[in-house]
Amino acid sequence: MEIINYEILKKYPLCDRCFGRLYAKLLHTTNTERGRALKLYKALELEAKIKKAKEKGINYEEELELLKALAKSGVDEIRLEDIEIEKENCPWCRGIFNKQKMEKLLNKAIELLKEYDFDTFLIGTHIPEEIKDLEKEIETEFMESIKQEFGREFGKMLAVRLDKAPDKEYPDIVVHINPYTEEIYLQINPLFIKGRYRKLVRGIPQTRWPCRKCRGKGCELCNYTGKKYPISVEEIIAKPFLEATKGVDAKFHGAGREDIDVRMLGDGRPFVLEIKEPKIRKIDLNKIAEEINKDGRVEVLNLEFGVRKDKVIFKNTPHRKTYRALVECSDKITDEELKLLEKELENRTIYQKTPKRVLHRRADLERIRKVYKVKTSKVDDNHFEMIIYCDGGLYIKELISGDDGRTNPSVSSILNKNCICKELDVLKIHDNNLLEKG
Ligand SMILES: [Zn+2]
Ligand SMILES: [Zn+2]
Repeated sequence: MEIINYEILKKYPLCDRCFGRLYAKLLHTTNTERGRALKLYKALELEAKIKKAKEKGINYEEELELLKALAKSGVDEIRLEDIEIEKENCPWCRGIFNKQKMEKLLNKAIELLKEYDFDTFLIGTHIPEEIKDLEKEIETEFMESIKQEFGREFGKMLAVRLDKAPDKEYPDIVVHINPYTEEIYLQINPLFIKGRYRKLVRGIPQTRWPCRKCRGKGCELCNYTGKKYPISVEEIIAKPFLEATKGVDAKFHGAGREDIDVRMLGDGRPFVLEIKEPKIRKIDLNKIAEEINKDGRVEVLNLEFGVRKDKVIFKNTPHRKTYRALVECSDKITDEELKLLEKELENRTIYQKTPKRVLHRRADLERIRKVYKVKTSKVDDNHFEMIIYCDGGLYIKELISGDDGRTNPSVSSILNKNCICKELDVLKIHDNNLLEKG
C-alpha cells in the first residue's frame, strides 16, 4: 500500500498546507513545506511518465487525471501543455490560515482582551461540523487535526503580540474562536484565593442566607434585602476582593461550617474564595486581609492564590476538631461529677440520630462519632466549661443535651441532669495543612 494517498486530491483539491497536515507526524518541517514537497515530487514523476507514454504512443489517461488534480490543488509549475487548470479553493482549511484573516482575528481578540488583566491564556478552537466530517473522511494515521494546528498557530501569534504565555492546565482566560465563522468570545476563568478565617462573634452565618419567603428577591419580611441575616462571613470576606478585582460575583467554599451562633476561633477554618470573571488578578492579598480584619467580626489569615482544584480538596473530608462549650445544668454540679464526666467521655463512641433541629432538611440517620478527650472546669454551681476533642461531624449541642435520647451517651445522660449548650466555639480544626496535601 502506498503511504501517500494522492488519489484524495482528485476528490478534494487540498492546499499544500492541508495535504502536508495529513502527514504531519512525519519529518520535522512545516505542513506547507511537506505538502508542497510531496506534490512536486508526484507532479515531476507524472510529467516524466506522460512524456514517455506520448513518445511511445501509449495511453496516459490515468497519469493525466492525477496531474490535473495536482494542478487544481495549486501546483502551477507543471510544464505539460495539456494542463491549463484554474486552482480551486481548499475545502478543508477554506483559507483560515490566510495572513490577513488571521491578523484580523488577532486584532479582534486583542481588543476583547484589553479589559482584562491576565498572565496566561489558552486558545479554544471550534470547527464547523462539516469540516470535522471531511477531516474524518480523509484522515491518515500521521495526521494532525486542523483544530490543533490553528490553535497552536493562533496561540503563538497571540503570545508574541501580548507577550504572555499559553497555559494548558490553568489558563486565566480561554479565547474561544471559530476561524471559519470568525466568531470570538472570552471565557474568563475565576480567580481562586485560599486562606483561613476566624469568626469572632456569634450570629453570623458562613454564607449568604436567602430570605425563606422571597428566596432572595426582597420582601417585607426581609426588609427588601432578600436575606435572612444581614451579613455573612462570605460577604465580609468577598466584598473587598470583588472591589479589588472588579469581578462579577464571588463564591465561598468553606471546609465545613459552624452554626450561626458558634464562633470559629484558634487558627481558623480553611476556605477558598472563587471570584468570577475578575478584571484584575494582581491584587495585594496583605492589603485586602488588613481591610477585612478591620471589620472586627471576621478575620482572615494565610491568604494565598489558589487553583481550581483547591475548592474540592476539602469537601467531604471531616477533620477532628476541638471545641469549647459553656454548659448550663438544671441542677447543681459537683467537681466529682465533672471528673466522672471526663472519664466517661474519654475515647467514647457516640451514637447520634439526626438532631431534631435539622431533621426538616436532613435525612433521619444514625451517625457514629468518637469523643477522644474532654476537659472540664466549673464556672459556678450550674455552669461549667468543656473542652472537647472529637471527630468532625459530631453534633456538639446534642452531645450535651442528649436531644431527648437521640444522642447516646450525652452529657445529660451521664450526669443525669438536663444540660444545654449555652455557648460554643470551634477552637481548632485538625486539618494538618490539608490545603497543601492535595
Ligand atoms: Zn487547505
Ligand atoms: Zn424576603
